[in-house]
Amino acid sequence: MSVEIPELSGFTEIYGMRVSTIGEDGDMVILGHHETAYALAAFTGYSVDTLGLSDIYDGLQPDPGPTATKAIKRGWASLKTACDEFGEDEHDPDCYECIEISECSWYLEIGEKEHPNSFPVTYFTA
Ligand SMILES: [Zn+2]
Repeated sequence: MSVEIPELSGFTEIYGMRVSTIGEDGDMVILGHHETAYALAAFTGYSVDTLGLSDIYDGLQPDPGPTATKAIKRGWASLKTACDEFGEDEHDPDCYECIEISECSWYLEIGEKEHPNSFPVTYFTA
């Protein structure tokens, strides 16, 4: 069974991989499953060339390579284009999900398990 990866705006192609930031803490994602070494090169390239950082941790880690290697995982993402809680009483007015959706029209929920309609991603947790 082939998994379909949706067309998403806001990705930059680095070494043939499509990279984007997710969340607000420097987390990043690449569409598809990739070897850790290739993913690290893409995340580093994206951090330096696209985000203008000095390296993947913007110089905050003395030894970024080994640390980042441990923070790269392969998982599954579900695409969300609407926030489940929007309009409900307990909805956070500063809901991060809503901000993401309004800025780039999508939000990715990422986990280790495959769900129906989820697609493969390689992700970096800062
Ligand atoms: Zn929301």
